[in-house]
Amino acid sequence: MFENLSDKLQSTLQKLKGKGKLSEKDIDLAMKEVKMSLLEADVNYKVVKTFVNNVKERALGSEVMESLTPGQQVVKIVHDELVKTMGQQGESKLKFNPNDITYFMMCGLQGAGKTTATGKLARKLKKDGKKPLLVACDIYRPAAIKQLEVVGESVGVPVFQMGDKTSPVTIAKEATKYAMKHGIDVVIIDTAGRLHIDESLMDELVQIKQTVKPEEILLLLDAMTGQDAVKVAETFNQYLDITGVILTKVDGDARGGAALSIRNVVEKPIKFLSVGEKMDQLEIFYPDRMASRILGMGDVLSIIEKAQDAFDEKQAIEMQKKLKKQDFNLDDFLQQLQQMKNMGPLEDLLGMIPGIGQNKKLKDLKINEKELVFTEAIIQSMTKKERANPNIINGSRRKRIAAGSGTSVQRVNQLLKQYDDMKKMMKKFSAMEKTMGKKKGLG
Ligand code: GDP
Repeated sequence: MFENLSDKLQSTLQKLKGKGKLSEKDIDLAMKEVKMSLLEADVNYKVVKTFVNNVKERALGSEVMESLTPGQQVVKIVHDELVKTMGQQGESKLKFNPNDITYFMMCGLQGAGKTTATGKLARKLKKDGKKPLLVACDIYRPAAIKQLEVVGESVGVPVFQMGDKTSPVTIAKEATKYAMKHGIDVVIIDTAGRLHIDESLMDELVQIKQTVKPEEILLLLDAMTGQDAVKVAETFNQYLDITGVILTKVDGDARGGAALSIRNVVEKPIKFLSVGEKMDQLEIFYPDRMASRILGMGDVLSIIEKAQDAFDEKQAIEMQKKLKKQDFNLDDFLQQLQQMKNMGPLEDLLGMIPGIGQNKKLKDLKINEKELVFTEAIIQSMTKKERANPNIINGSRRKRIAAGSGTSVQRVNQLLKQYDDMKKMMKKFSAMEKTMGKKKGLG
């Protein structure tokens, strides 16, 4: 998301950074460019106007004119205003009922990615130690119930359904009984979507809302539909007084107009971004981190969180022990690679590293995910003995492994060398750690 906007804003601001002093004309010119870039990104016109006016007013004030590095000061102002446009600190936090079962209602037009995001949210809650239940209240769309069941199964969360002949309000009521009986603490209701907003759908949603009194009414919006998404949000909000938005298909949205407009137009926070079809591709929305990403300042915090989400803590501790004892074998190597893959496309990660956003050469570098597939295939073609003790892999074994994995001896050699290098590096680390330990002991 935001690729074009990000490039344009960065190049505009880069010009300012190069100047020792800024005149009013410099700022005027830069703001014209900023305005064009935002409009091209499909940001709501009113939002653009307010944004540019705010930046301009602050940029012309003493905060910039009297500072030593006026260009950098303007970058800071643009960053601040971007954050303000997208929300406030802490707004993305979900609200829970501390004394009773918590209800979340998921709403949105058909195809927005509601069912997918419902599964992702359930997965996240479960990871956070909750006991969620999914409730199938979309009784109109053929196969909606089945789809929810498939999603629920894939994340290991139960699904409550009563077929398509019972009214959604009754289903919601019955789900409560089920939840109480089974120690469920968060009930997530998947409501019906329509192709367009219509009165009867809204009535039904209002009825469900009145029945379960949800802590969160989350509206699913397809980021790729830009300003249409903002209009949908306005209507749903009028009827339901939603509590937040989950922006979906963000991975396919190069412009980012919806993300930059919704908070301001609807005055409701974006709480999550859905960034792919897989169940772990849900990110908490942090306006400050997003602003940093747009301006190419990187988002190290999100990388750390992704790593924490993808890596199993127990496995990590186990791995650390192995590294210390230096019995890190090819199975462990493979496990590490698989966990790296869980962190999502490597290009996405690169975009979050400070400085890389601006570095054209690095940005164009496509990480070859196929390499990982080959590596996996090669290791999987080895016997248990070979994985545990790669030293025994001689010439004829190499040939067999190459044939078995559909690769070449050259690739097998390459992989074994990588593994060897990694082992050597670890030896160095652990030697370093020992010396440091001794030094500490002496001190
Ligand atoms: P619903 O009708 O609102 O329940 O929508 P679904 O959850 O069935 O999603 C509609 C389609 O969009 C499916 O093919 C999903 O796989 C896809 N989809 C959902 N969320 C995302 C996302 O964040 N990124 C991408 N690329 N596709 C998504």
